[in-house]
Amino acid sequence: MAPAPSECVRVVVRCRPLNERETAEGRQRIVEIDVAAASVALRPPGGAPGGNGADAGAHQQRAFTFDAAFDWASTQAEVYENAAAAIVNSVLQGYNGTVFAYGQTGTGKTHTMEGAAADAGAAGIIPRAFDHIFGAIEGSEGKQYLVRASFLEIYNEEVRDLLSKSPKERLELKEHKDTGVYVKGLNAFVVKSVAEIRAVLEVGKKNRSVGATLMNQDSSRSHSVFTITVECIEQGPASDGHIRVGKLNLVDLAGSERQAKTGATGDRLKEATKINLSLSALGNVISALVDSRSGHIPYRDSKLTRLLQDSLGGNTKTVMVANIGPADWSHDETLSTLRYANRAK
Ligand code: ADP
Ligand code: MG
Repeated sequence: MAPAPSECVRVVVRCRPLNERETAEGRQRIVEIDVAAASVALRPPGGAPGGNGADAGAHQQRAFTFDAAFDWASTQAEVYENAAAAIVNSVLQGYNGTVFAYGQTGTGKTHTMEGAAADAGAAGIIPRAFDHIFGAIEGSEGKQYLVRASFLEIYNEEVRDLLSKSPKERLELKEHKDTGVYVKGLNAFVVKSVAEIRAVLEVGKKNRSVGATLMNQDSSRSHSVFTITVECIEQGPASDGHIRVGKLNLVDLAGSERQAKTGATGDRLKEATKINLSLSALGNVISALVDSRSGHIPYRDSKLTRLLQDSLGGNTKTVMVANIGPADWSHDETLSTLRYANRAK
């Protein structure tokens, strides 16, 4: 039986610590997190701690509840266990799954997804998923696995292969009547170990920054999608010869900040409009999935949701990690992220 929609889509919030600059500037922390209750409260900048009082004026403290809430003391291991481990297990069993990191630039999306690869404790969801997948494969008996990795970015509603030798080339989304939506010409490398898949990630990261420089782009404005496909076939006399295929998408979304603040004009403004469009298209798809009454899921409204169509909804699992900063200066963006995440819940 397919799990209920609410079990298929989970939304968790993670707040990073105050950074050095914020501390040096004497910034106030305006976010309170109750880890046990999975709730996040945001108070207006300048308001009294926990203040709903008169001094808060028109700005009331706002509180939201999610499937989990991680504060500044949370570890990469805790976030992985809560947000990603179950999805990776279901991918190993032949289901699709997606983990998104959402939030304003500088709130910890890349920290959550990638972390610091050199330091095991600081490794994020992507390298931990590598260890998890290959650990499970090495510990399995009577099964044969094939693992492939691909890595792409969506910038300005254009898809690029981060594992390609020509980083400027745009790829097209195509639809096959049996196998669904795919990216024509996208590389997918067979990887046989953690070392091999790490090497693929590194190549893609390098191409991403080289490509961004080449094209005068800012990678915080693109979505990156690292996809791991796991094929499994049972061996021995009991096998039915059936190949199970699971796909894991690990998505570091473009920064969600609104562009009014940055005074964008011309091409930058056009870009910003497209980012906002694709993030709202994603929000619409996720809230339609969560709301069991909605029959129509608007996958076709953006490249990202079209691409991930077979990994969002149905018997797939999705987690959105909404990243926020703790400081007063980012109150409006934090509120906007909490609202986005709350709607996706
Ligand atoms: P984003 O990808 O959303 O723009 P980053 O992941 O690059 O943000 O994070 C911005 C900075 O904050 C980085 O220096 C990162 O190491 C740091 N940071 C983010 N989240 C945390 C966290 N939970 N704990 C410690 N440092 C963090
Ligand atoms: Mg980033």
